[in-house]
Amino acid sequence: MTHFPDATVILGPLSDWFALNRRSLPWRAENLDLPHPDPYAVLVSELMLQQTQVATVVPYFRRWMERFPDPASLASASDDEIHRLWEGLGYYRRAGFLKRAVTVIADRDWPRDLEGLLALPGLGPYTAAAVASIAFQLPEPALDGNAFRVLSRVLGIEQDPRRQANLLRAWLKPGLVRFGPSRITQAVMELGATLCNPKPACPLCPMTPCCKARQLGVTDRIPVTRTPVAIREIDLWLIALQAEAHWLVLQPSAKGLLSGLWRWPVVELGFLETKDRAAETPDPYQALDIKTWAGWIQVYSHRKEHVSPVSIGLPERFKAPAGSVWIPAADLSSLPMGKRDQRLRSLLPSPPCQGSAVAPCAKLLRQVMAVKP
Ligand code: SF4
Repeated sequence: MTHFPDATVILGPLSDWFALNRRSLPWRAENLDLPHPDPYAVLVSELMLQQTQVATVVPYFRRWMERFPDPASLASASDDEIHRLWEGLGYYRRAGFLKRAVTVIADRDWPRDLEGLLALPGLGPYTAAAVASIAFQLPEPALDGNAFRVLSRVLGIEQDPRRQANLLRAWLKPGLVRFGPSRITQAVMELGATLCNPKPACPLCPMTPCCKARQLGVTDRIPVTRTPVAIREIDLWLIALQAEAHWLVLQPSAKGLLSGLWRWPVVELGFLETKDRAAETPDPYQALDIKTWAGWIQVYSHRKEHVSPVSIGLPERFKAPAGSVWIPAADLSSLPMGKRDQRLRSLLPSPPCQGSAVAPCAKLLRQVMAVKP
């Protein structure tokens, strides 16, 4: 670290730049020299901002704070209501973590050090350090994607900066002490979000005189990116089954990408083609009112789904398979669902797509009835 410039010197211009250029955001405190007046607002914003753009988060944050203004109101809310308010933000596990964390806080008050914050459910090293520095003015460096990009460029680190996290924290800490933990933490994030983005606007940047990547002309090579994770592609049928004014839906699970959300049954196309050998028998339920619509591609971080939506009406209900339940049609609109499942729900009242693929109805029914979700 001896070859790095002194953080207590070179972060001065960044601090000055932030004072003049900081965006007005609903979770930001006015006075950055004091502890934040509402640590809960910091926690909510940090969890919402993970993997999500500021512009998307702002209206969600406002609605959330209106409905759940403090830890106690969130701790006593139902999971369904929480997920309904989170609907559309994605990465739904964050909502569950938030509730579990504030339940502890409502019970025992806020932890006042990094270890205590790290012990809260769902708070990893980044979120715990962000809350420590922004809410409580503790000099705990918070390194997210923006911070890694800015710091690796300023310091000219030509290897994966995430592998240098401890070194970067040790370098940054005296800067937090010198200029204020909340101010510098947010200034680094702000620079990464506005000027030092993947195509940096160096001429406008307060770090230009000392930025190593800029001096060496290697801003396009830094940060060194990690090997991308392989994306799995899946073809599937997303199935809305209706009978006797009820819909069959999968109950929320505690884990996974769509945890806490209600889902439609799914049958993967590959499964139908390769394993459903005995599926040529006629549909025992004589499905009625089969509708299909144009499909779409649903993209998640490590998965791309080619979705074919279908709705099938049956004359009567069958026993709901484990993990699923028939819910009254009137309740469908109030269930919290992820984007993919919301999309099928919103298609249901619309006319089917002319000429779309014919659903292999009997096969789909057999799988939905037999396969544990
Ligand atoms: S000078 Fe350019 S590369 Fe360096 S921190 Fe500023 S915007 Fe980023």
